[in-house]
Amino acid sequence: MLLEVRGLHVEFRTRDGVAKAVNGVDYGVDAGETLAVLGESGSGKSVTAQAVMGILDMPPGRITGGEILFQGQDLLKLKEEERRKVRGAQMAMIFQDALSSLNPVLSVGDQLGEMFVVHRGMSRKDARAKAVELMERVRIPAARERVKDYPHQFSGGMRQRIMIAMALALEPALIIADEPTTALDVTVQAQVMDLLAELQREYNMGLILITHDLGVVADVADRIAVMYAGRIVESAPVHDIYKVPAHPYTKGLLESIPRLDQKGQELYAIKGLPPNLMHIPPGCAFHPRCPMAQDVCRTDEPPLYEVNGEEPDRRSACHFWRECMNG
Ligand code: SF4
Ligand code: MG
Repeated sequence: MLLEVRGLHVEFRTRDGVAKAVNGVDYGVDAGETLAVLGESGSGKSVTAQAVMGILDMPPGRITGGEILFQGQDLLKLKEEERRKVRGAQMAMIFQDALSSLNPVLSVGDQLGEMFVVHRGMSRKDARAKAVELMERVRIPAARERVKDYPHQFSGGMRQRIMIAMALALEPALIIADEPTTALDVTVQAQVMDLLAELQREYNMGLILITHDLGVVADVADRIAVMYAGRIVESAPVHDIYKVPAHPYTKGLLESIPRLDQKGQELYAIKGLPPNLMHIPPGCAFHPRCPMAQDVCRTDEPPLYEVNGEEPDRRSACHFWRECMNG
């Protein structure tokens, strides 16, 4: 495994109490593999990624348990400086909003070039040539001329390509993309997602794709982990989950995807809201919203059961996963 997160716990201390944002997450991704992490906002998907990237090590966020193994080494046990070295060279992150992630007063060429000057000790001239090469690699038209332009001079889709170019610059082993296409319109979304998937294959990277939208990951993910209230509630190879979900929450998410043949019809949306992370419901955290909930769900927290289907490696944190798959 390239990356393996084991039993991760993260808390946030606030004036009103402790918010339990991540409550025992296990997941992993191999080189050349894409893991989609799916959930509503507040499910812990971004916080887990931030813990991996090491951008959460400061208050009020606190990692209170678990391991983050990268190429077999627990990042949480390394000295700060060593950790930063691994993360700087081997991992990169892509965010939803390129405009606020890029420096507005530097040309994109200078920003891309900076990576090679700082990390590879290249001359400005060579770094500029590398910047053009990367912009061509992510298919920005007229890269040679546009290298002097500033972020605000690019469209949203083109800016997201520049973010991808920045992430790829040092050829990391792992990329984490947090809602990389959410701010874009649908056709541009698909183009950017396809580009990301293509580069991921070409560079044989591990890719963790964080999204709230099951629709955008169907074609690019190998596996899906669905999160709710800081836990993984279902994890499976992508095709299995679309065929037959093994958790009522996943089922609800699937039924919320707009379909062409249902135009004009109201979409099924999961009723209610995700829980307050300072007061996570006892038993199954999803029980107040679950159409299949029984008494046991209000008292007993479901473990991540192994689901015995044709595919191995399928798990569901629902006491009634069998009924869910049959219903
Ligand atoms: Fe619903 Fe119970 Fe399954 Fe939780 S354990 S998802 S409440 S049926
Ligand atoms: Mg988020």
